[in-house]
Amino acid sequence: MALKNYNVAELRRLDVEHHLAAQQDHGMMRDIGGARIITRADGCYIRDAEGNAILDAMAGLWCVQVGYGRKELASAAYEQMLELPYYNTFFKTASPPTIELASKISGLLGGNLSHVFFNSSGSEAIDTIIRMARFYWQAKGQPERHVIIARENGYHGSTIAGASLGGMRAMHAQGGPWVPGIEHIRQPYLFNDGFGEDPRAFGEAAADALEQKILEVGPERVAAFIGEPVQGAGGVIIPPETYWPRVEAICRKYGILLVSDDVICGFGRLGQWFGFQHFGIKPDLVSMAKGMSSGYLPISAVGVADHIVEVLRSVGDDFVHGYTYSGHPTAAAVALKNIEIMENEDLVRRTREDTGPYLARRMAALAEHPLVGEARSLGLIGAVEIVSKKGTNQRFGGSEGPAGRIVRDICITNGLMVRAVRDSLVMSPPLTISHGEIDDIVDIIAKSLDEAAPALAALG
Ligand code: PMP
Repeated sequence: MALKNYNVAELRRLDVEHHLAAQQDHGMMRDIGGARIITRADGCYIRDAEGNAILDAMAGLWCVQVGYGRKELASAAYEQMLELPYYNTFFKTASPPTIELASKISGLLGGNLSHVFFNSSGSEAIDTIIRMARFYWQAKGQPERHVIIARENGYHGSTIAGASLGGMRAMHAQGGPWVPGIEHIRQPYLFNDGFGEDPRAFGEAAADALEQKILEVGPERVAAFIGEPVQGAGGVIIPPETYWPRVEAICRKYGILLVSDDVICGFGRLGQWFGFQHFGIKPDLVSMAKGMSSGYLPISAVGVADHIVEVLRSVGDDFVHGYTYSGHPTAAAVALKNIEIMENEDLVRRTREDTGPYLARRMAALAEHPLVGEARSLGLIGAVEIVSKKGTNQRFGGSEGPAGRIVRDICITNGLMVRAVRDSLVMSPPLTISHGEIDDIVDIIAKSLDEAAPALAALG
């Protein structure tokens, strides 16, 4: 296939004139003269219009599990579009890929999660969860059970409900009023909030914050607790192993629904099909997106436990919720093919037994770097904490933010796409990544830290 030629200057001009990018400082985008134009990608590499090849340690936005350039996924979309490009599930209708995908995913979820509700994005899946959890309790004759407890620095999307549920201070500071009936508790962030403490005790204490909040709100008013198995956008915060089992026990004690937001951790990221499976818990609702189609088309889902389905089936009326694109046949066909590729290439086991442990070993070596306070990973997700004083969690300039951005920009110049979350660099490469490419990620980060040292020192 011939490569397209682009007029880069013109594209950047039009970008400034007409395009507002996601989650951006729009004044800054204007001042820098528009976006870097990404024109193509292959394997674990993206390429920009200037011809730079960049190793994509973010797998797009935590989503390209099978890597770029998969012709099988393009063919699956093409064939499905010729057969039935679109239809909805509103009119007592469904399409073959939609049903097959629901069945496939329920098998991967296991346990009593035998039904699936489709949406297009992670945020929409979160909206579905909020509406379904509240409707469930209403249908059970307990409408006062509507409060949902989430965590500070958790991320659950950018719609008004997703942003309300998430615990992102920067989001909450912009606009509002937010969706009522949402409470936040502390996060299990050992490096920042419990530096030097015993991880097991710290994990238990962080979980106990849930019980305290339930008692404060009143157990009879709490519908559900939601958390990401590993917080992704919050900075790849891997909870101590005591955390999730205790959270689960607290949910069971008070009879509240346990929700796993598996939008990032799902589809092999932690070395199991779903993140909650790594921590050995049994949620009642599970959101998923991203890796479900490797991002090739937008599709998301909510796994729903049998006891919730029974209640939905008992109300004798419509659950008045759903989207035009719920169960989109072409997106579903691509997701099915994506899962097939993951199975054929054994990507989940490979992440658990091979590439994940290899990344962990390389991260342990990176942790020796004088500017690194901690380098942690689980499966193929990781974070590197930048500190001003080795052996502490102190930050350059006394506050988080600038150091992360400085090192990230140098990494990108050095050919590595990583994201800065405050003063950590986060990564979640494609699950197809090789050992050599993992070496490149770690080596480029180490080199970029070295190069950043004078600028970081200038922050004070
Ligand atoms: N939940 C989690 C855990 C996420 O990481 C994200 C996206 N990063 C979302 C929800 C929202 O997904 P989307 O951007 O597809 O709406």
